[in-house]
Amino acid sequence: MLQRKITLQEAEIPTHWYNIMADMPNKPLPPLHPGTQQPIGPEDLAPLFPMELIKQEVSAEKWIEIPDEVRNLYSLWRPTPMFRAYNLEKALGTKSKIYYKYEGGSPAGSHKPNTAIPQAYYNRKEGVKKIATETGAGQWGSALSFACKLLGIECEVFMVRVSYDGKPYRKIMMNTWGATVHASPSNLTNAGRSILEKDANSPGSLGIAISEAVEVAATHDDTKYSLGSVLNHVLMHQTIIGLESLKQMEKAGDYPDIVVAPFGGGSNFAGIAFPFLQNNLTGGKKIRAIAVEPTSCPKLTRGVFRYDFGDTVGMTPLIPMYTLGHNFIPSPIHAGGLRYHGAGAIVSQLLKDDIIEAVAINQTECFDAGLLFSGAEGIIPAPEATHAIAEVIRQAKRADEEGISKTILFNLCGHGHFDLSAYEQYLSGKLVDYEVSQADINASLAELNTPAI
Ligand SMILES: *Cc1c(COP(=O)(O)O)cnc(C)c1O
Repeated sequence: MLQRKITLQEAEIPTHWYNIMADMPNKPLPPLHPGTQQPIGPEDLAPLFPMELIKQEVSAEKWIEIPDEVRNLYSLWRPTPMFRAYNLEKALGTKSKIYYKYEGGSPAGSHKPNTAIPQAYYNRKEGVKKIATETGAGQWGSALSFACKLLGIECEVFMVRVSYDGKPYRKIMMNTWGATVHASPSNLTNAGRSILEKDANSPGSLGIAISEAVEVAATHDDTKYSLGSVLNHVLMHQTIIGLESLKQMEKAGDYPDIVVAPFGGGSNFAGIAFPFLQNNLTGGKKIRAIAVEPTSCPKLTRGVFRYDFGDTVGMTPLIPMYTLGHNFIPSPIHAGGLRYHGAGAIVSQLLKDDIIEAVAINQTECFDAGLLFSGAEGIIPAPEATHAIAEVIRQAKRADEEGISKTILFNLCGHGHFDLSAYEQYLSGKLVDYEVSQADINASLAELNTPAI
């Protein structure tokens, strides 16, 4: 029988997260205060985050221990399986070997609980009663609702209006785990009201929803804020994916030439790629790590490297990042998790230093790839994950054209069971591509008055 599935025992769940900051040749520039534009210290972040997460955010320590209770909760769905995609290889007729790490088996259906659990854990440990957050496609909101429920704290979610209306099941999932969910922009915050005054029918955006959640946390003593991507500690929690993958690759007697993942703010990409990049930076290995973004929101391939806000209203610290400008509102593609204007500081610095690569792909090519994948391997991928699959197919074809064989690993970061309306549109031929025009990018960037780098 073909050995498709490469599994680990519970005891093999990693004991530490990997902090790539320790090995980076150039560390990211410091975040700046949104008002003074001076570097911020831990005390500036204290109203928003528990101290332990702030320490992790600025830490340069290479390994950070995973608390026992977190490892225990991880074991509800971890270690996650890795698969050799024999059927996909056959469907492509490729000589390359394709592996994928499957994160869709978590209770929320994506990689996001990998950071939601430790974030809820450290908040509870420091006596926080409630966490406020935003969600775009609903994946982060469901992951945090799940984590807060298990750890016994309240969760309040600002959900981008278009998703709130279009993805009712994600909302019900959050409610089932006990969370309160508001459509954003809402009239509950100054940030929401100021947007609604300009446009009562605003479809919302991730940036607006972030502004609302940050405002709630900043104005309530017992409430903190939580982010599902972008920040250093979030990327670090996700390295559990790549650390398991390293062990699984060893079991398979293989090592990837190329690691591929979709890119929204950078967390699932960092999660699978950073542990392999450690071996590039310190162990003489040479994998290529490729981040895949949508052509409708191409911050890595067409954005600028400068300081920008994480949100739309300008309340979060200024982060050194690749960005399309914090006012950029991407077209309504189905990979909701990839519709974010910026990127994390660490991944941005790594791209600047040519340690990672980026590519942008149209959504119809991605859904073509998703359909081919589900017909071969069975799993219906989240629209975000189809971006990785499309790039894997390009790489395998390129290798075949060159008459060589590559070993390719990608992150299947979630299933698409809540995205079936996107598949419905695709199947009925209604899905279109939205390649953003240079004029639109220029217009958004022209509004930026944040510090250049
Ligand atoms: C949130 C999400 C993403 C995008 O976020 P990253 O931080 O870039 O990983 C991609 N895929 C899925 C399934 C998601 O839930």
